[in-house]
Amino acid sequence: MKHYTIGVDVGGTNIKLGLVDRSGVIVARAFLDTKSFYKRKTKLIDEIVGAIRDLIDEKKLVSKDILGIGLGLPGLIDSKRGIVNFLPNVPGWKNVPLKSIIQKKLYIPTFIDNDVNVITLGEWKFGAGKGYKNLMCMTLGTGVGGGLILNGSLYRGEGFVAGELGHMPLNEKGPDCNCGGSACFEYYVGNGCLLKKAAKIFKRKDIQLPEVFRLAKHGNVRAIRFWEETAVHIGNGLVGVVNLLNLRLIVIGGGVSNNFQFLGKTINAVIRRRAMRVQSKMVKIVRAKLGDDAGIIGAQVLVKEAIRER
Ligand SMILES: [Zn+2]
Repeated sequence: MKHYTIGVDVGGTNIKLGLVDRSGVIVARAFLDTKSFYKRKTKLIDEIVGAIRDLIDEKKLVSKDILGIGLGLPGLIDSKRGIVNFLPNVPGWKNVPLKSIIQKKLYIPTFIDNDVNVITLGEWKFGAGKGYKNLMCMTLGTGVGGGLILNGSLYRGEGFVAGELGHMPLNEKGPDCNCGGSACFEYYVGNGCLLKKAAKIFKRKDIQLPEVFRLAKHGNVRAIRFWEETAVHIGNGLVGVVNLLNLRLIVIGGGVSNNFQFLGKTINAVIRRRAMRVQSKMVKIVRAKLGDDAGIIGAQVLVKEAIRER
């Protein structure tokens, strides 16, 4: 019986795998610390395939118990044809037919998509977005990503690149971005900018964001103000989304969302103040629920949706 799916979350420095049951619970896990594998594409794929085989063996299952394999990857993915078009942070990955490569090795239906899309699917079916038809999931980290569920399905765009929230310009003029644009949202709220700002405020080059969070928790005025200013930027970026899409829900995930208690109120206040009345009244801003597991659990949704659509 096909009760399980396997989720693979390919990150910038590591790969997380999980065997997921029908109700979205991860029943077995594996972890590949694979920075060195990234140098060789075939080695990386072999490692992933090996880890999938181990997961199936570990639970004494066979291929036919597995409904499908879902992979989320950080880059431009043609999910329809199953091709990795480009991974900006992993050298050598251009136009790789990953879906067919894995299917040929394991004889299990395989589906691939952009990592933020997969996280969005997870939060939609099993996390903060359960029961909603229209939502956006925003991931705050080194990059700022966005995934869209519109009218009850994932919206990928004509070229599979919809939802590039981090590259919406916040100003007419501003610093150049590696996307080719300038004054991008990501510049104001991405980890790189926040770390630089924190280093300046606290006069410490090595300060990390969890520490700024701890300081805020202990009532440090400068730390509280730091998160408040960050929240104002996030709110400003989201006003356009709220006005444009008239969503019911915006889910905020990623590392920075750990500070939601210092962000949520201000983000909401900015949206109430600046977004149009009908839209701002209807939208709720909440923290993501699945944390680091969103990619693995979301892969189950990716598999199920893809099989349903076939
Ligand atoms: Zn940009």
